[in-house]
Amino acid sequence: MAVIVARPDLNFWERLYLPSIVGGMLITLRHMLQTLWRMVFPRRHVAQPGILEMSATGLMTMQYPEEKWPMPEGYRGAPVLVMDEQGREKCVSCQLCEFVCPPRAIRITPGSIPGTDRHTNVEKRPKEFDIDMLRCIYCGMCEEVCPEEAIFLRKEHPIFVGTDRKEMVRNKQELYRLGGVLPRPIKKWENK
Ligand code: SF4
Ligand code: SF4
Repeated sequence: MAVIVARPDLNFWERLYLPSIVGGMLITLRHMLQTLWRMVFPRRHVAQPGILEMSATGLMTMQYPEEKWPMPEGYRGAPVLVMDEQGREKCVSCQLCEFVCPPRAIRITPGSIPGTDRHTNVEKRPKEFDIDMLRCIYCGMCEEVCPEEAIFLRKEHPIFVGTDRKEMVRNKQELYRLGGVLPRPIKKWENK
């Protein structure tokens, strides 16, 4: 049912709009002056145990790649794809991770496996597998849901580093390179 919202009666000054415009401009001016002040007198960091104390310069910004601070203990990491001990893809492109991902950071194009391939005992593997690390919220739900233990969150610095937005969309080859091999007691690849 539609709700009718009554229009408020504006007084003379409100109808002029000038006080509101001037007020908004004063707020903008205040922020501009604050920014200028911080540029002229930059603030030093407030020490946080385990992270900022690792910085050689003592500033807030980590000077990567010269510096590599350890990731916080409770931090999960970023998702990458992993292979089994024999360098075979674990992912069977079931798309569960794509379905469950809250910000829709994962894009999978499933592909079939030809009969001559060494993966021939399973039906599918991803033709394309992209993860947009800028959309990812590092929740770990893809890792939780994967039935093949093919996607894991890892904390290595290169996963998080890129020089532009395009580079931060990791494709399949990049995800396998970053993930590497993760031995697990999964034997479904073995021909019976
Ligand atoms: S960690 Fe979360 S947000 Fe990132 S790709 Fe996996 S499910 Fe999506
Ligand atoms: S990573 Fe796991 S959940 Fe995602 S498509 Fe591959 S097998 Fe399925």
